[in-house]
Amino acid sequence: MDGHTPGETVDMNSVAVVCRRAWNAVDPRDRTEMKSPAQTVIVHHTALRYCSNPCDSVPQLAHIQHMHLQERGFDDIGYNFLISGDGVVYEGRGWGIVGAHAKEHNFHSVGIAFMGNFNDELPSSESLSALLRLLHIGVLHGHVRPNFVLVGHRDVAKTACPGEHLYSLLPKLREQLQNH
Ligand SMILES: [Zn+2]
Repeated sequence: MDGHTPGETVDMNSVAVVCRRAWNAVDPRDRTEMKSPAQTVIVHHTALRYCSNPCDSVPQLAHIQHMHLQERGFDDIGYNFLISGDGVVYEGRGWGIVGAHAKEHNFHSVGIAFMGNFNDELPSSESLSALLRLLHIGVLHGHVRPNFVLVGHRDVAKTACPGEHLYSLLPKLREQLQNH
């Protein structure tokens, strides 16, 4: 997929989200609705293999869901959304549902995971653009507060997540969010 060339307008009001059924998600054991729009967006990485096409991403999603259900005992895949290197957004728990991704912060945050290990990899511009558009839509539709705070998992827990290369881009992303 081509990146965005300078000067090209990106439609901030649209992002394609691949629904659960399309990636063969199994049904959640349980789900809790959030009581109010999210105050915080927490960026994660999966710390697994980098995925940049659906042939890699779809089996990886099933693997993550299985791991979260069976090994960690979560009710569903932990994240609200996942983003692959080709800039495709996959629905995890989706909007308005409490996730399981950052202890003590799940009830008021949205957890979004980039698919790869960003201690090693650099996040693609497509995936970063997808995040910005997803958040723009989240605010537009009232799932996320307009003055939400964007943080990395390591800001709220003792973890290397979301990886050095992704974490170091967060200030720039915050700036870009301010300008939209
Ligand atoms: Zn994390």
